[in-house]
Amino acid sequence: MFEKILIANRGEIACRVIRTAHRLGIRCVAVYSDADANAMHVVMADEAYHIGAAPARESYLLADKIIEVAKKSGAQAVHPGYGFLSENADFAEKCAQAGIEFIGPPASAIRAMGSKAGAKEIMGPAGVPLVKSYHGADQAVATLQKAADEIGYPVLIKATAGGGGKGMRMVFNAGEFAENLSSCQREAKSSFGDERVLVEKYLTKPRHVEIQVFADKLGNAVYLFERDCSVQRRHQKVIEEAPAPQMKPEIRKAMGEAAVRAAKAVGYVGAGTCEFLYDEDGSFYFMEMNTRLQVEHPVTEMITGQDLVEWQLRVANGEPLPKKQDELRINGHAFEARIYAEDPDNDFLPSIGKLVHLRQPEPNANVRIDTGVREGDSVSMYYDPMIAKLIVWDESRERALARLRGALAEYEIVGLTHNIKFLHALGSHPEFIAGNVDTGFIKRHNDVLFPAAPELTAEELAIAALHLIAEQLRHAEQVAVHHADRHSPWNQVSGWRLNEDNHHALVFLESENGPEHKVIAQFRNDGFAVSVNGQTLSASVTALPDHLLAVTIDGKKQQVRVVQQGTQQQTQQGKQLTLIGHGWSRKLWLKSVDANADAAGGVPALTAPMPGTIIAVNVKKGDKVARGQALLVLEAMKMEHTIRAPAEGEIADVLYAQGDLVADGAELVRFARKE
Ligand code: ADP
Repeated sequence: MFEKILIANRGEIACRVIRTAHRLGIRCVAVYSDADANAMHVVMADEAYHIGAAPARESYLLADKIIEVAKKSGAQAVHPGYGFLSENADFAEKCAQAGIEFIGPPASAIRAMGSKAGAKEIMGPAGVPLVKSYHGADQAVATLQKAADEIGYPVLIKATAGGGGKGMRMVFNAGEFAENLSSCQREAKSSFGDERVLVEKYLTKPRHVEIQVFADKLGNAVYLFERDCSVQRRHQKVIEEAPAPQMKPEIRKAMGEAAVRAAKAVGYVGAGTCEFLYDEDGSFYFMEMNTRLQVEHPVTEMITGQDLVEWQLRVANGEPLPKKQDELRINGHAFEARIYAEDPDNDFLPSIGKLVHLRQPEPNANVRIDTGVREGDSVSMYYDPMIAKLIVWDESRERALARLRGALAEYEIVGLTHNIKFLHALGSHPEFIAGNVDTGFIKRHNDVLFPAAPELTAEELAIAALHLIAEQLRHAEQVAVHHADRHSPWNQVSGWRLNEDNHHALVFLESENGPEHKVIAQFRNDGFAVSVNGQTLSASVTALPDHLLAVTIDGKKQQVRVVQQGTQQQTQQGKQLTLIGHGWSRKLWLKSVDANADAAGGVPALTAPMPGTIIAVNVKKGDKVARGQALLVLEAMKMEHTIRAPAEGEIADVLYAQGDLVADGAELVRFARKE
């Protein structure tokens, strides 16, 4: 076995590979960018080398630099993880030339599967079913349009070099084809440097079912069953599970054997995944093969009891596959939920920032957490905004799902917007519980999965007020202890309680510029009388360590954690509080009592949702626009975001031009609503 390997990756997958390598007594070399100098994978590795600036192109994608580090550190093999260089045939080749084992398939297999079009060329003859498509070399608009017309709408235009859900456009009729084609080509060019596309039949209610395959260098190949990854947003997976709900054994076998044929057709070695569309009628079609370890591999590990990274290392070392097909069994059921720094209520826009507070469920035999960040770390704009993968196992799907909900309820994340609540809503949906999943699940159940945030309750407002009062009391006590003039009225602590009229008036905001709520807390002998929205509650509070408060409100006792961001000064506007109870959390803002409400209102500012580049400006000053009309297109994190008119009106000003770089929150267009 290798004595030392280099991990050409970061985040959770680098940490996950290091864990298995260490268990096998293999030493690990990490590489890191400027943004990751203190990252978890750097700390876990036995040694680590700086390879460049934060952007991946200047660090994790520098093949030569990484190989140089491998040589210098004496690493005998390189594990590429997923993403970055993992499916880069040139990198695999360069490793081989440098005498370093690439832990993955041979360059030829990566190349054969690297293009969705090329893969279809190979899979057809190998007897793997394909969906009706055009994947030819002729990329003339007329040819592609004709192909789409022949296949029949709806069709899907896909970047041949695509991945990660990018570079895909659904087209429902011939008239929309040309516009979607150019937008798809533009995204394909900017994300993959290759604007070629293919056109295929769009299945309206398929499931995404994929097969884990493994092959060794001795010609053996097996499948480790399926994963169902149907629940997707933006064509990207959100919750994965294994086995697939309601999968018939004969279809599992047929799919598994097709995947093994696919692997053998390209001389595959190592871990790979064949992705299929699984139609309502039981037919299935090959989509693509991913020539690496997948993000969702842990669910397969949980139901098979195998460590796939160990398999990868053994195979790369020239050993035979650890198990034969008839030795592999499915045991129980597993789910993986991807915990992302993103905003489900805002089209899943990535959120960046510091993990001010992070508490995760305690791992045990049923709950596994794969993460690459700790409290205090930042999620930056440079890489995938995944915080962690939560993986759960139990004997049945129902019990595993209950575990998933339970573990999600224990998560506490403050500092950036995250998808925990959304994941919990998914895992609680009756149709999901029933296993009725398909790729349109999230869209179809939009209303239930994205409920409008309810108004702040009187109880939540009272807790926020009690937290601030408790904090101020603590502060006053400290001052009194350290202050020479203990009798100054400014330093009175107990004095507040002597006077029944003494009260605190606080104004909270429901969102940064949302509706206001006034809370008045009056001191009583036994606690407080808190008036909120015309209601009076009796309350008491005790501050406990670790941001916890024990509160009793109208007889209900509970512990709530309150994490605050912003300054320590209570009067400071904009201080943000996050209340975290068991299975619920709520954000609110403190507005200083004296400040008057901003009466402006009306039209929301049209601002950049994140830093990016303006790639199209469709309007000019003075233009009359309809509600929903596309005004400008911003490219950020390799995705296009269209800024639309919020109402019918007129363009008062356009503040940026095509090609301009814009900062997060920059106002892009001034808009005047039609009176
Ligand atoms: P990527 O490589 O970007 O992940 P895939 O080809 O794997 O792209 O497709 C991603 C997802 O898009 C699939 O899981 C599925 O939900 C959807 N999809 C892809 N092809 C089709 C199709 N022909 N019909 C319906 N949905 C599709």
